[in-house]
Amino acid sequence: MEKFQESMYQLIVETSTKLPKDVRRAIAKAKLRENAGTRAAMALTTIAENIQMADENVSPICQDTGMPTFKIKVPVGVNQLKMKEAIHRAIAQATKDGKLRPNSVDSLTGENSGNNLGDGVPVIKFEQWEKDYIDVRLILKGGGCENKNIQYSLPCELEGLGRAGRDLDGIRKCILHAVYQAQGQGCSAGFIGVGIGGDRSSGYELAKEQLFRSVDDVNPNEELRKLEDYIMENANKLGIGTMGFGGETTLLGCKIGVMHRLPASFFVSVAYNCWAFRRLGVKVSPETGEIQEWLYQEGENVDFAKELEKAAQSVPAEGREIVLEAPLTEEQVRQLKVGDVVRINGMMYTGRDAIHKHLMDHDAPIDLNGQIIYHCGPVMLKDENGNWHVKAAGPTTSIREEPYQGEIMKKFGIRAVIGKGGMGAKTLAALKEHGGVYLNAIGGAAQYYADCIKSVEGVDFLEFGIPEAMWHLRVENFTAVVTMDSHGNSLHEDVEKSSLEKLAQLKEPVFK
Ligand code: SF4
Repeated sequence: MEKFQESMYQLIVETSTKLPKDVRRAIAKAKLRENAGTRAAMALTTIAENIQMADENVSPICQDTGMPTFKIKVPVGVNQLKMKEAIHRAIAQATKDGKLRPNSVDSLTGENSGNNLGDGVPVIKFEQWEKDYIDVRLILKGGGCENKNIQYSLPCELEGLGRAGRDLDGIRKCILHAVYQAQGQGCSAGFIGVGIGGDRSSGYELAKEQLFRSVDDVNPNEELRKLEDYIMENANKLGIGTMGFGGETTLLGCKIGVMHRLPASFFVSVAYNCWAFRRLGVKVSPETGEIQEWLYQEGENVDFAKELEKAAQSVPAEGREIVLEAPLTEEQVRQLKVGDVVRINGMMYTGRDAIHKHLMDHDAPIDLNGQIIYHCGPVMLKDENGNWHVKAAGPTTSIREEPYQGEIMKKFGIRAVIGKGGMGAKTLAALKEHGGVYLNAIGGAAQYYADCIKSVEGVDFLEFGIPEAMWHLRVENFTAVVTMDSHGNSLHEDVEKSSLEKLAQLKEPVFK
């Protein structure tokens, strides 16, 4: 079992730090489709840079290393209990080594277990089969995209598309709607797995199962193959683009599976996965526990270092480029407009769900006047001298803070928030009234942003757990895009509106 534990550790580290070849090819293809100089092209260049850095540093591609989910097929007679224990030990070790973020939280007390273990975590599903080797597949799917999963119960009425009935055309409408509703919040461009049929839980399982298929495979069911092709072509007409910045590529892959259902139920379940599509697999010897073969290795590997050389010669991004030194004044912030690219130097403070809730009725531990709050739950490691180091630090989904953000900005005089996916009407109104700005960083670019952090100057609320603590970070050249300004403009609102219009153009039945 010692060797099996080592094999599982290798699988976890490789999955967290290196994107599989099929996913890399899909991202490189998307990059080619975007016009140089656009915001989408800039976002994809940052993503490429991030993938390259994660490769080189053997560090997590994204700071949210997700829910570790193992699907394991074993020959008859293999001891599954021992395998489970070995996986648990490998998970705890990978967390200790900073390859996984401590992501397992007690749902009632909010306490983080600190080692990625807990009730139901990790998810391990065993199946027996006739073959003589063990097949282990692992997916690390983050919370931002998990929150954009959606399930439809047919028949239903869909925004922009009208009635979705219990037929192939109704299914088509649900899938298009699933892509639309995700906007940029699940770190588009994304991959979707779709499960048709089953009950509520098996439908979602089937949808997730599709994410284990290779991006390049061809569905053996001719009807579903056609539907997958149709979705790929038409979802990319919605114009949501990378990070919801607008652009040519919204969807990088679509895989659809089907199962029987109850006569009274007709579910279409959609699992949305961000561009940081971390899933890998290995074949393991049941005798020795050693890895015999790595899966998902077919085809060409994209060298993002070369891609980046080409990008370095391309035109600069659209919009003004502005250097900001934090803390910020109201005057500086009011000059910023949607589309501006900002490069930030100075301090920023992380804050996400627990801190926003806490600050509503408590004082802040430091003076936040003029400061920048970064929606981020980083991967941190403490060295033997007690100093903290940032291992991964991309933005988290901002919309979760919508109930609190405006009030907190006004209460403490905060001038800017950085996150991803945008915020809603309440925050937009507060930015206008108070003189604030929302900056969209590139979701998942955890290595790229970790590199911008030059020192960790303190931490508060460590009792909330590493991802939820308030980290005091000194940054240099931290790049983000203004997507909501103090003049009432929101790029997110604009993209949502125009994508709804485009969605409505796909209303007419295609499959009868
Ligand atoms: S890329 Fe975005 S959605 Fe995906 S895990 Fe990272 S933060 Fe979450």
